[in-house]
Amino acid sequence: MRELQAAKIKELRGSLRGEVILPSDAAYEGARKIWNAMIDKHPGLIARCVGTSDVVSAVNFARENGLVLAVRGGGHNIAGYAMCDDGIVIDLSQMKAAKVDPDARRVTIEGGATLADLDAATQAHGLATPTGINSTTGVAGLTLGGGFGWLSRKYGMTVDNLESAEVVTAAGQVVRASASEHPDLFWAIRGGGGNFGVVTHFEFRLHPVGPDVLCGLIVYPISDAKTVLQQYREFTAKAPDELSVWAVLRLAPPLPFLPQEVHGKGVTVLAFLYAGDPKQGEPLIEPLRKFGTPAGEHVGLQPYAAWQQTFDPLLAFGARNYWKSHNLTTIEDGLFEAAVDYIGKSPSPLSEIFFGAIGGATTRPSPDSAAYAHRDAQFVMNVHGRWEDPADDERCIRWARDFAKASAPFASSGVYVNFLTADEGGRVRAAYGQNYQRLAEAKRKYDPDNLFHINQNIKPG
Ligand SMILES: Cc1cc2nc3c(=O)[nH]c(=O)nc-3n(C[C@H](O)[C@H](O)[C@H](O)COP(=O)(O)OP(=O)(O)OC[C@H]3O[C@@H](n4cnc5c(N)ncnc54)[C@H](O)[C@@H]3O)c2cc1C
Repeated sequence: MRELQAAKIKELRGSLRGEVILPSDAAYEGARKIWNAMIDKHPGLIARCVGTSDVVSAVNFARENGLVLAVRGGGHNIAGYAMCDDGIVIDLSQMKAAKVDPDARRVTIEGGATLADLDAATQAHGLATPTGINSTTGVAGLTLGGGFGWLSRKYGMTVDNLESAEVVTAAGQVVRASASEHPDLFWAIRGGGGNFGVVTHFEFRLHPVGPDVLCGLIVYPISDAKTVLQQYREFTAKAPDELSVWAVLRLAPPLPFLPQEVHGKGVTVLAFLYAGDPKQGEPLIEPLRKFGTPAGEHVGLQPYAAWQQTFDPLLAFGARNYWKSHNLTTIEDGLFEAAVDYIGKSPSPLSEIFFGAIGGATTRPSPDSAAYAHRDAQFVMNVHGRWEDPADDERCIRWARDFAKASAPFASSGVYVNFLTADEGGRVRAAYGQNYQRLAEAKRKYDPDNLFHINQNIKPG
């Protein structure tokens, strides 16, 4: 990259409508920063694209010049795969436009949009598609890995709602992938990550949601954690698809609805959303208040788009993060005990362990209906080591790793590809599960030279 002649860079500049950002440019430092502050990569060039033709030029430029290539959507990936050292980054952060067809219940959105961009466009029509629980996450990376959140028990994984996509392949060709056009590519991008090309547009099916939804938080002291979690397990097993409840163990942030004496102490937070008529949801959530004596609650009607942003302040850009994840088909008591034990030795006020109940509609398609294979996962469990001071790196990483090890005997064999860190190469096959071989064949067809390898990589089969 360092040897790349100025003439070639000038040629790329001339072919883009967007910007080319070099290390000498004032914008460079900001442009190379991504969500996880542990990632400190220095690309040789950032191509900030503003449309599909820019992406084609940048892909061709990378391939023709033999450059390492990374693709940035929302920049949220915990492993830091939106950035690379020395090579070129195709940065889609300016490509966020969305177009909704409310009659057909479809949205088309560009590959650099965040969940907040998607929600803003679709909620203007009282519609939504299932995505994740933190609105600054990129639509692209989330969708390409599978995608789940508050609406998934009712409407499935994000990939189950994908109708079509526009993809720039490694050869620089623009193709449409859908059930009838390049169906092998359409299958592969629904769970196979960014291995097959740069997705410039996604088209999703939409569903009526809100705009106001019944949602909120019910907080229990950590002393009740085991019995609360046991009741949570029984409750979620019988809950209707409309009701999603996640359990989070952490030290209580200073939330105004919690008494001061609880702040900084261990708590179990039940966070929920009811994706249906709030009047029908009210009696259904009542038992959640009776798992013990809550320390506080914040429950009511609020706009769906606002609820999607509720956790943003706890998950803001710029902190240091080390995560581990397991899929679970059930939660055994021993796992609850381990989680309570580890929250007791939490290394920082930002760290947490969560149980995301997915199940419902995410489990009904067959495991080979799309590349996302984990149709047996009833829960995804994450340990989030999260802290601010680099001096705490070793301590916080060790805590997350130790808990991941202690919880591994309770996990199923699968893991969600979007929660893998960069040092988990040994789990990549588990992340693609039974679909790995078919993915490797699609990789050989669409990216035989592995141009797109800054990801949880599938080798051309
Ligand atoms: C705080 C937080 C909360 C999260 N919550 C959820 C959740 O609720 N549900 C859930 O399912 N996941 C969740 N995730 C995981 C999330 O899905 C992944 O981090 C995902 O990779 C983020 O996508 P991105 O576009 O922001 O990432 P990026 O870092 O930009 O990219 C991730 C990967 O996708 C590739 N890529 C990005 N854009 C494109 C594109 N347009 N075309 C082709 N390849 C592309 C990149 O090259 C990279 O390999 C969360 C992550 C974080 C950090």
